Amino acid sequence: MKRIGVLTSGGDSPGMNAAIRAVVRKAIHSDIEVYGIYYGFAGLIEGNIEKLEIGSVGDIIHRGGTMLYTARTEEFKTEEGRQKGIDQLNKFGIEGLVVIGGDGSFHGARKLTESGYPCIGVPGTIDNDIPGTDFTIGFDTALNTVIDAIDKIRDTATSHERTYVIEVMGRDAGDLALWSGLADGAETIVIPEAPYNMDEIAARLKKGHERGKKHSIIVVAEGCESGVSFGKKIEEATQFETRVSVLGYIQRGGRPTASDRVLASRLGARAVDLLLAGKQGRMVGIQQNRLVDHDIAEALQLEHTIDMDMYKLSKELSI
Ligand code: ATP
Repeated sequence: MKRIGVLTSGGDSPGMNAAIRAVVRKAIHSDIEVYGIYYGFAGLIEGNIEKLEIGSVGDIIHRGGTMLYTARTEEFKTEEGRQKGIDQLNKFGIEGLVVIGGDGSFHGARKLTESGYPCIGVPGTIDNDIPGTDFTIGFDTALNTVIDAIDKIRDTATSHERTYVIEVMGRDAGDLALWSGLADGAETIVIPEAPYNMDEIAARLKKGHERGKKHSIIVVAEGCESGVSFGKKIEEATQFETRVSVLGYIQRGGRPTASDRVLASRLGARAVDLLLAGKQGRMVGIQQNRLVDHDIAEALQLEHTIDMDMYKLSKELSI
């Protein structure tokens, strides 16, 4: 293999730049050329492709977003669309592709591989919802952004003695809600993976109020219910003045944390190693702090699971 490509696809996440940098530098270090494909699979279909040099990825390791930009395109879900992409890759003499993105992007990478074009997936999404890896690139940064926001809301919640419902991202996964809720001592964490009982939540909030708590923080995962509708239910059940805060897209931006930069660097470099070793249709990940790789198709069939012990712990600690 003498020339590989790299693209970012789907939702962006902090640390994607560090992953691109790792792919480019590791490839050049291994004496192979790297081409950047701009705007994900949409750019691939159009041939929006450019050679990247060592300097192309300078000064990006600390930046959020993705220097290759990202996009979503329905056309890539069709065989004709994917064939256009393969034609472009062949035209540029690119022999293997690193796809950085979420599970949708992994489906695209899987299908390209099934059509005979070697791809490796690198998990980049703030949702932490990809099976086969304990963490995805961007999750830690988003988590810290959420914690920072909750800390600030906590100050005003205390001053006004109010209940705050905070809606966090995560798509269908509750990881961001669970980890931020535990890290911020939320009274209640509402995640799609666990049913909730409004009577029990209301009783818990009232008990806290009776023993003199100045405020209550409730973290709700977007995949479970909207913060607004949950806030209404809380107010009805407790009669406490309740405010809702939807954190939204601030969770997707910002400088990647050290943890995300290190993870992205390790995973990006490993993806290049796999391509050079003749592997294809694999995804890289980290499990128990060791780099791993799995068959993408098999990984996509697994269900993402959440750490229910952590959920239990969050309840035990928020008495
Ligand atoms: P995030 O989880 O952050 O939203 P994602 O990678 O899951 O990221 P998607 O929008 O689901 O984001 O997928 C990105 C792109 O991957 C799609 O726009 C499409 O081009 C391609 N893609 C998604 N699913 C498939 C599929 N089943 N077959 C081929 N390509 C796909």
